[in-house]
Amino acid sequence: MINFTVGPVQSEDCVREIGAQQVPYFRTPEFSKVMLENERLMKKFAKAKENARVAFITGSGTASMEATVMNLLDERDKAIVINGGSFGQRFKEICDIHNINHSQIKLETGKKLTKDMLEPFENKGYTAFIVNVHETSTGVHYDMDLISDFCSRNGVFLIVDAISSFLADEFKMAEWGVDVMITGSQKALACPPGVSVIVLSSKAVNRLDSYNSGCMYLDLKSALKNGERGQTPFTPAVGTLLQINARLKSIDNAGGVEKETEKIAALAQDFREKIKDMPFEIVSESLSNAVTPLHPLNASAYEIFTILKDEYGIWVCPNGGALADEIFRVGHIGALTSKDNDALISALKNMEKRGLI
Ligand SMILES: *Cc1c(COP(=O)(O)O)cnc(C)c1O
Repeated sequence: MINFTVGPVQSEDCVREIGAQQVPYFRTPEFSKVMLENERLMKKFAKAKENARVAFITGSGTASMEATVMNLLDERDKAIVINGGSFGQRFKEICDIHNINHSQIKLETGKKLTKDMLEPFENKGYTAFIVNVHETSTGVHYDMDLISDFCSRNGVFLIVDAISSFLADEFKMAEWGVDVMITGSQKALACPPGVSVIVLSSKAVNRLDSYNSGCMYLDLKSALKNGERGQTPFTPAVGTLLQINARLKSIDNAGGVEKETEKIAALAQDFREKIKDMPFEIVSESLSNAVTPLHPLNASAYEIFTILKDEYGIWVCPNGGALADEIFRVGHIGALTSKDNDALISALKNMEKRGLI
């Protein structure tokens, strides 16, 4: 199998080897040391300030999206939610469930966020801005300079879901004034699913004091308090956290986050070159390195996904709902090489020859 989905993705050997080991007991100095190192490397790769903090949540990315809203927003707030697809919609629904007053900016499929769209929201008393920097469902990567300018001008608390973008695209948490950055274990971190990570600026850490999470399991004050000694309030996904540690160290030893981002960018570039003359249209106005969203000109996207899986042993990422027949996505994250790209291109060419696309 070759896995080109957007997560879970393929893991490198040092991560897989840990998966074959027994899971150790974790209330130990040894595990605390691993967790403190995880925190240090996460801050380094997110380009956060030294006084930022990191919470490791056992739960997929959505748990951290919801934890962020629950711990850092309440009835005093008025949020702007960028809704460009299913992950933006998820933030909107989280705000609905937790009664957070909000306005959404709804984008058409594939469209980027522009200055004009933000204009009506200037000086209107908004307190928070919530965005998925890479809307993975449609493959649109938003302009963080634009968002950062708006937020600093309006003194708005900035929450960024970078779940599928972290490591794949440049991310400058401190420089952009991002208050919360969220990511997950199964995207470019290329570990098994089950852990998500919240990096909080010092402003976000201080803000926790004047909010009540209303929740025990996802309480960030408690997560950070325990994190001071490299621990978590409850039993975490210990094995996955050890795998994250191996992966973060592997990236660090191979030249750091820039090198990793370059590698993913080169893989995306290579694929986009090779697909050029084929009957597909790239649907996003502004691409992340993580994913190429493709609209097949002559076939159903979902059928292409099924045939690739069943007849070629290659997994691309289908879309759900209204876009199921319109778009499928090819991921460039995880342990993939340009040889893997060649295998996918050759399978698609073969399908073309068979009159299937
Ligand atoms: C994958 C992803 C998530 C998290 O989804 P989970 O299934 O909860 O891990 C959230 N936001 C974005 C942008 C994603 O790509």
